[in-house]
Amino acid sequence: DTRPNDLSAFWMPFTSNRQFKKNPRMFVSADRMHYTTADGRQVLDGTAGLWCCNAGHNRPKIVEAIQKQAAELDYAPAFQMGHPKAFELATKLVEMAPEPFTHAFYTNSGSEAVETALKIALAYHRVRGEGTRTRLIGRERGYHGVNFGGISVGGIVNNRKFFGSLLTGVDHLPHTHLPAVNSFTKGQPEHGVELADELERIVALHGAETIAAVIVEPMAGSTGVLMPPKGYLERLRAITEKHGILLIFDEVITGFGRLGSSFAAEHFGVMPDMITCAKGLTNGVIPMGAVLATSDIHDAFMQGPEEAIELFHGYTYSGNPIAAAAGLATLETYREEGLFERAAGLASYWGDGLHSLRDCPHVIDIRNMGLIGAIELEPIAGAPTKRAFSAFLKAYEKGILVRTTGDIIAMSPPLIIEKEHIDTLFGTLREVLNEIQ
Ligand code: PMP
Repeated sequence: DTRPNDLSAFWMPFTSNRQFKKNPRMFVSADRMHYTTADGRQVLDGTAGLWCCNAGHNRPKIVEAIQKQAAELDYAPAFQMGHPKAFELATKLVEMAPEPFTHAFYTNSGSEAVETALKIALAYHRVRGEGTRTRLIGRERGYHGVNFGGISVGGIVNNRKFFGSLLTGVDHLPHTHLPAVNSFTKGQPEHGVELADELERIVALHGAETIAAVIVEPMAGSTGVLMPPKGYLERLRAITEKHGILLIFDEVITGFGRLGSSFAAEHFGVMPDMITCAKGLTNGVIPMGAVLATSDIHDAFMQGPEEAIELFHGYTYSGNPIAAAAGLATLETYREEGLFERAAGLASYWGDGLHSLRDCPHVIDIRNMGLIGAIELEPIAGAPTKRAFSAFLKAYEKGILVRTTGDIIAMSPPLIIEKEHIDTLFGTLREVLNEIQ
């Protein structure tokens, strides 16, 4: 047990994870691809923290930008006043995004980006005289953070079940939510159009004039790295466009190079009306998120209700100077080091390494795209501990960090990963899969 005694008071309130309370695992420092644990071990970061440290850890350029900014201008009010770096970052962000996106609304997290995008969608229709469009449609196994909007449109039953009525305009009755994309690679490629066509049935049942927006992760991350089947996103786009429904891509994970392009919208060649992002925006170092919007949508939202002359939408920390400085240094690092191209270039080596594990015990599916990957393990009926969790613990003992969700092991390394790290990661996982029961 490496738990320092004097942390016991802070311990309980910090986390609700029962496993963690029993067996705390602590990182005390980090450098590029590795964490150092409280007991002095090096752990290879196979998950970029929580899918966020895309440029790796403790990059001097980002650290220095934060230090300099804190000493120069620590805070500037987000309303009526501003500061240059918030504008600079928004400009860079919009430049890096696909063409239709012209404006960024700052938030402080991915969850807040989702709430903001949902609000913008409702306001957009209202301002255009289509106030009956209040229905919001998500997807089973979708993850959009833990605030009320996010859990409402999200597809994880456990995240919403204590909270009774959710956001107006969302329900989980049959034909009000999109079905999950197939979790298996096998047999999936042809199902895309069929899966997306459920949206036509939803529209037929409720009427297009009641539906404001559809929100999906272009590639679902947190619920197990679920790929969009062939034709799926294109079909969602076509149906939403046909019926005047806004399409929101939640790119909190897929943004900033993970799939080898700035955003997944570009990777898949499908343009939504809004993109939510966070995590990689500041390399995970300082909390910050954003909603990217087209000028149409931006203008409608900024119009707001006539009586709301001042405070209509915004956060105390919107575009705060230190986060903006971290964001600018992060985007510069991505560009200078060509990290998105690097991710694209390493994707096949990564995929080959991952698929070399297909004959390991318990493996029932392997999925990858860009620098992201998942190994799905056969569930053990009725067992209290999932195999994937045992694999995570054993991998951690052996010096690699992976993430588990249900029966799935997920990986999303920093984009600075070297081939040797990829070999170590999958070599260690091979041992792990052969050792677990
Ligand atoms: N949306 C997606 C797609 C996410 O993956 C996450 C976080 N994993 C969120 C929203 C929530 O982001 P945050 O934890 O920063 O609130």
